[in-house]
Order: sequence, then C-alpha cells, then structure tokens
Amino acid sequence: MKLSLREIIEIPGSGVDFSCELGTEDLAFPSIVRYLSAPRAEGRVYNEAGVLRLRGEIRTELLCLCDRCASEFETAKTTPLSAVIVEKNDDNADDPELFFLDGDEIDLDEILSTLFILDMDSKFLCREDCRGLCPKCGRNLNLGPCGC
Ligand SMILES: [Zn+2]
Ligand SMILES: [Zn+2]
Repeated sequence: MKLSLREIIEIPGSGVDFSCELGTEDLAFPSIVRYLSAPRAEGRVYNEAGVLRLRGEIRTELLCLCDRCASEFETAKTTPLSAVIVEKNDDNADDPELFFLDGDEIDLDEILSTLFILDMDSKFLCREDCRGLCPKCGRNLNLGPCGC
C-alpha cells in the first residue's frame, strides 16, 4: 500500500494514521509454521519539526517450531515500529536506518515488512528454559529425564 504524505510534508505538527494487514508471502521464516493471524499494523506518520517519523506497532499470532526441542507452540508477537523517512540524496542512500520518500508517498508495505523482518527473533523457544532434546537418545527433556 502506498501512503501519501502530501498533506503533512510541509506542515510541522501534522500527521497521518495508517492501519493495514501485511501479506505473509514474503515473511517466511524456517521457525514459523504458519501465521495464525495476519500481521496487523497500526500507527502514524507525523511531521516532527520538519522530520517525518513513523511510529506504531505490528501484532500477530504465530505457530512456531521451537529451535531447541522442535515442538510446535503458539505465540503472540508485537513488533514496535520506529522509522525516519527522508528524501533520498547522494549522502544518505546507503543508510540502513532510513526509509525514503517516493515523490510525496511512501511504500508502506515495504517499510513495515522490513521493520518486521529486522525485529524477528533469532531464536524461537517454546519457553525461556526449554531443555531441548537429549543429544544421545533424542528424547524431549521437557517431558522428563531420559535415563542416558
Ligand atoms: Zn522447546
Ligand atoms: Zn537420552
């Protein structure tokens, strides 16, 4: 979805709200079995003293595979959104912290997907203290000791 910022680009203090769902086709991760609910983004782009900032959050529910014990578990995930949007020039084109205007619009889907991916946990654990699998017999040690 393109979001027009025409109304706020020149007006410090103004803002525009957004609310949308993200397509999950490009948001596949080995540890995510499937999305139980489409990631839903809510937030606002506002002009803070001439700087365009995006704030908000993405919420979704996931069916994941535990990286340690390989069992499936459900989890809710909230991704905080924070970004600065600027006009592209020769000096800032490679800055990974920035997102760029396309005329007076932004590609909201691309910004939201990028922030979602950057925030994706590197580890998916069914619980903080998951004991994982016995390296010898493969038993799930969350279910009790294996006797090895
Ligand atoms: Zn586990
Ligand atoms: Zn064992």
